[in-house]
Amino acid sequence: MSVALFTLGGTISMAGNQRLTGDDLTAAMPGLSGLGHPVEIQDIEKIPSANLTAAKVLEVVDAASKAVTAGAVGAVVTQGTDTLEESAFLADLVWPHPQPLVFTGAMRNPTLAGPDGPANLLAALRVACSPAARDLGALVVFKDEIHAARWVRKTHSTSTATFVSPNTGPIGHVVEDRVSVLTRPLRLDGVQGSAEPAELDNLRVALYTVTMDDDGLLLQGLADTHQGLVVAGYGVGHVPAALAPVLGDLAARMPVVLTSRTGAGSIVRNTYNSPGSEIDLLQRGLIDGGFLDPYKARVLLRLLLATDDDIAGAFAQYV
Ligand code: ASP
Repeated sequence: MSVALFTLGGTISMAGNQRLTGDDLTAAMPGLSGLGHPVEIQDIEKIPSANLTAAKVLEVVDAASKAVTAGAVGAVVTQGTDTLEESAFLADLVWPHPQPLVFTGAMRNPTLAGPDGPANLLAALRVACSPAARDLGALVVFKDEIHAARWVRKTHSTSTATFVSPNTGPIGHVVEDRVSVLTRPLRLDGVQGSAEPAELDNLRVALYTVTMDDDGLLLQGLADTHQGLVVAGYGVGHVPAALAPVLGDLAARMPVVLTSRTGAGSIVRNTYNSPGSEIDLLQRGLIDGGFLDPYKARVLLRLLLATDDDIAGAFAQYV
């Protein structure tokens, strides 16, 4: 039985002008033979992750799905780190298998001193091969830490320790050649319907970060061009009072999800009652995004719109 590896470009593959293939990445990798499973490689694209689309991610998930159905013990996807938290969460929402689907990448490219790609890739392959990592959905493995796709964030522009899960911490670690899963998050209901990749690409969900003195002008006409909106509000889910009716009007025309721009923690429901605070906004029909960060809330909302799933019910799982 093999372990499947899919490559999508990013810093992990950037050797000057050359883009490394999966064969290049695994050639002469120390420890590979200890995996106990041959690596079966599919090079999908060599692109910066800023150019990845949801449709492309679903295409890779489909290829990984076929690989595990054909007998692979698990699958690894390498990609650029910039959008990795979004890809991994999208994959998590549609991954139906017990086998691990593991995302990884690198912050230092192979031409630099101390590139982290080989170590990250080896750790990711170890996790993908590990029975301990089954039934956990999509995972992100970086710096020998295992993170649940739904909680992991890229939190630093250059550090090799950029991936953290602020609300939960890592769920496990790779130590030498051992995979230790210390805590097992519940598998949540993924998205039930199936999304046509092209349909997903055509769906526009805006992400709007609230700032001081914001008058909401940018939101004018949004309902004519977009099918949904995620608001990254202050703190526990607040916006300037002048913005509250604008968001309420939008919420009457399309789903509007309220999240926090802080990077960790949840919004609240029942603490502040002034115009623009969470009680007001939820009464105006905004949806509680719970612990989901704005980027992940946007991924979920877009997928729910594409699949016609129950939007409020899906977000309620993250509260
Ligand atoms: N800009 C790169 C990308 O996301 C960064 C990386 O791979 O770390 O493709």
